[in-house]
Amino acid sequence: DACPPLGELLQMLENGLTEPPEKGDVVAYWMRMEDLRICDNRALAQASASAIKDHVPLIVFFVLSPEDYVAHDRSPRRIDFTLRNLSVLKDSLAKLNIPLHVSLHSQRRTLPSYVISFLQSVNAIRVFANIEYEVDELRRDINVCRLAKDNGILPSFVHDKLIVEPGLLSTKQGKPYTVYSPFQRQWLSTINSDTDNFLAEGASPKANPPSVKSCPVFQKLFASEVPSYVEGFQCPDGDKMAVVWPAGTDNAREMLRRFLHTKSRGTHLGIADPLDEAADISEKQSRAILYKENRDRADKDTTSRLSPYLAAGIISARECIRATLDLLGVKKVQANRDSGVGMWVQEIGWRDFYTHVLAAFPRVSMGRPFQEKYANVQWESNPEHFEAWRSGRTGVPIVDAAIRQANTMGWMHNRARMIAAMYLTKDLMIDWRLGERHFMQQFIDGDLASNNGGWQWSASTGTDPQPYFRVFNPYLQSEKADPSGDYIRSFVPELRKVFGPEIHNPPAKLADKLGYPRPLIDHKEARDRALRRYKNPGSK
Ligand code: FAD
Repeated sequence: DACPPLGELLQMLENGLTEPPEKGDVVAYWMRMEDLRICDNRALAQASASAIKDHVPLIVFFVLSPEDYVAHDRSPRRIDFTLRNLSVLKDSLAKLNIPLHVSLHSQRRTLPSYVISFLQSVNAIRVFANIEYEVDELRRDINVCRLAKDNGILPSFVHDKLIVEPGLLSTKQGKPYTVYSPFQRQWLSTINSDTDNFLAEGASPKANPPSVKSCPVFQKLFASEVPSYVEGFQCPDGDKMAVVWPAGTDNAREMLRRFLHTKSRGTHLGIADPLDEAADISEKQSRAILYKENRDRADKDTTSRLSPYLAAGIISARECIRATLDLLGVKKVQANRDSGVGMWVQEIGWRDFYTHVLAAFPRVSMGRPFQEKYANVQWESNPEHFEAWRSGRTGVPIVDAAIRQANTMGWMHNRARMIAAMYLTKDLMIDWRLGERHFMQQFIDGDLASNNGGWQWSASTGTDPQPYFRVFNPYLQSEKADPSGDYIRSFVPELRKVFGPEIHNPPAKLADKLGYPRPLIDHKEARDRALRRYKNPGSK
């Protein structure tokens, strides 16, 4: 970790920066999986400003990279969502005279030279992109920068994904933060010391045009078709996903607006959700205002459900925060635990935090625990238990409901994620990396940093200062997260007719009668085993 590749990339961009060549035909913006939007997209806005200044057309290109998707366990749902959003973007960009060129390159090793060949083929002067903080992506971009410079193309890779970029916040000792609370305090005061900068919409802090402008038309090209699928990543329930998670920034903005201003998600997006409350368009009662009290309730539709849109950059985190300022009629960001909106902003802070951790400690994304002392914890190798977990047949209703929610929607409520993840790692004592991988392969909002952070939190191998003996009792968690059992009944049809406390832990006789599995393991015994193994990593 001594020299994380982010530092190397930034160094590379600074060193020997050449002036762009006098002549060229286009400025190019390389759109990637995490920045699928036009508004408030820093690299795109800078590219647009540069094209207008140089009186040349702007082109946007996107390279589908199946080998990367395999390596990163990208889910077919996420790939399908990417393609659906690219289709929407293609039409919106066309209105600005900007062609979107989508191509496929299967070998990840040769991607940098493929990108450079493409840029040469259109005689690009400059290439812009937003930085991706995963270690493989950083290494790829270092190569792209090197090759671009060698070939007289000026590369600009900029920070965009987070509110506060990695590397900017550090402890008094100058080290990266490894605990959320102090990170969050500095994160907030940094933002509030210069909101014009950190929350600025558009090209770059304080300056430059705030939006992407119409550019001269590029005669030579080509707006290519967006394919409807990528081989090997066909989405089995694409039609349903398109209804539950509609593509495009307009839809993301509408979800944000309804979260902040209304109690109900409504059915206008075609989302028929059993957990949605009756429409109650009352500002005081919005889900954001009630977030503090309700956010841990898996049985209610209490959170924004913006994670697929934030993970794919369909809406920017800055826009989300700016919207909270408008809602509260304030100029400074509120991120305290006293109010619903303040707590929600803290969640956006967690998103920043886990990406900072990933950038500073790339090992976490390479299968290593953040806390190395837990590298030798003895995990159970039990394919049957793992299979029962991932198909939602553990016999613990809240865990099964959570997993089946993910299997149905490609998304899971945060508390449910924590319960399901902790059950796998502490009760079944199965390696967190298997669960991490399964979530990535299943979820539409799979985000390497947040998923890794969430799994390592649950397995007590991560940044959480709480020691390993935090072991959720899934039955007590169930009573809190789903008091009446609505959540369980929604996703576990075998238990649809069970009411009252039994829903959380059905007696064996009842479970047998309903065809519902008995628990795989006794919670108390499992807990003792986990405590033993964490106390002495390496021992059985
Ligand atoms: P809201 O409660 O409305 O929060 C708003 C936004 O804040 C979210 O959309 C998300 O971008 C961010 N956020 C909220 N909680 C967290 C958190 N704990 N960590 C990081 N960011 C957060 N989130 C992902 O976006 N992708 C993942 O792959 C992912 N995997 C997870 C795996 C585990 C085991 C756990 C415990 C959590 C994981 N999370 C992940 C975090 C969190 O569960 C989801 O972001 C949240 O449930 C999404 O629902 P929402 O948009 O309604 O969230």
